[in-house]
Order: sequence, then C-alpha cells, then structure tokens
Amino acid sequence: MGGTFDPIHHGHLVAASEVQARFDLDEVMFVPTGQPYEKGRVSPAEDRYLMTVVATASNPRFHVSRADIDRDGPTYTVDTLRDMRAVYGQSAELYFITGADALARIMSWKDALTMLGLAHFIGVTRPGFELSNDHLPADSVTLVEVPAMAISSSACRNRVAAGLPVWYLVPDGVVQYINKRGLYRDSGIAGPV
Ligand code: ATP
Ligand code: MG
Repeated sequence: MGGTFDPIHHGHLVAASEVQARFDLDEVMFVPTGQPYEKGRVSPAEDRYLMTVVATASNPRFHVSRADIDRDGPTYTVDTLRDMRAVYGQSAELYFITGADALARIMSWKDALTMLGLAHFIGVTRPGFELSNDHLPADSVTLVEVPAMAISSSACRNRVAAGLPVWYLVPDGVVQYINKRGLYRDSGIAGPV
C-alpha cells in the first residue's frame, strides 16, 4: 500500500487490515512515498516513515518499506512495484491497495499499463469518492468495500494547525510523534481538507 502517510491514519489502517483478511495476504507492506510527484510540500520522509512504523508496529502482518523514500527523484508506483518484485521474487503474488480517489486517476500514472501488469490492484471504498473500475482494463482491478472511515491526512494536518485534537483519528503513538516533532503546527503543509 503506497501513500504519502502525512500522517498515517485509521482510514489507511482499516483498509489495509480489511484487504489483508479478505485476500488472506501474508503481509501488507506500507510504502511511504519519497517526493510524491503530484503533491506539493510534504513533511520530511523520515517523519512520515517513522509515523508509519509506529502505527503498524503492533500488527505482525504489517511492515514498512523504505524503497520509495530511499530512491532518488519523484516516486512512481511502477518503480515501487518493480522494487517489490525484486524483493519478493517472481513467484510472489503482489497486490497494490489503493483508495477510490487514487484509483480514479490511475490511468494517468506513469507507465500505467506496465504498472497494472506488475500487480493486481485492489480499489477500496473511501467516503466522499465513488469507487468504479469502468475506465480500467478488465481483470486488473478488484473493488472491495471496507468499513467507512471519513478521515484524510489533510484533515488531520488542518486539525493540528487549528489546535484541534487528532486523538482517535490516528493511532496514539502517531499523536505523540506529531506533538514530539511539532509537525503541522505552522499550516504550511496543511493544504485543503
Ligand atoms: P491527503 O489528504 O494528504 O491526500 P490521504 O488521507 O488521502 O492524504 P494518502 O497518503 O494520500 O492519504 O493515501 C494513501 C492511500 O490510502 C490512497 O490510495 C488513498 O486513496 C487511501 N486512503 C486514504 N484515506 C483513506 C480512507 N479514509 N479510506 C480508504 N482509503 C483511504
Ligand atoms: Mg490523498
């Protein structure tokens, strides 16, 4: 599951947990993006990586990869999947978990058809976005309904900038990490909700 994870929140975690259970996946690898090519300023990669580690540490099937943050240049999912293939070998079945908003734009991602051939894509429901695979090649995407969590990282950032709590929207350790590092207080990385 790729994401900016700025910060990781319970929407990400519920989606990952649901897909892991439905598809009986051995593990879910969270891959924080390096420099996302389609987003503006984001928090330092190391902070996003550590928040993702903190949030996933208690689940034995959840892991975090540094592949994207350690690769130079903008992050493209086609490269992420090639790296995962190199790590797990040719026989591994790879699934890429993505929310309805991202799925809607997937054909515009770099080398989209190659990318869709490197993994099976799982599109998950997300409140406020319609989940559809109409515009996607048949057989490359499965749609999955996950418990609705109307949470976004931007809303979490805006709440911190406004002095509002993010307890229960993100894991406790992530709240504490945000406070410890003073993330999102100046609204520079807040962005639209
Ligand atoms: P931002 O508001 O900064 O865009 P975000 O909450 O959308 O952050 P991302 O890191 O951009 O989080 O998302 C990573 C992946 O998780 C994307 O595929 C996205 O669609 C999915 N996702 C994010 N939030 C949810 C949610 N509440 N329910 C289901 N999927 C989600
Ligand atoms: Mg997003």
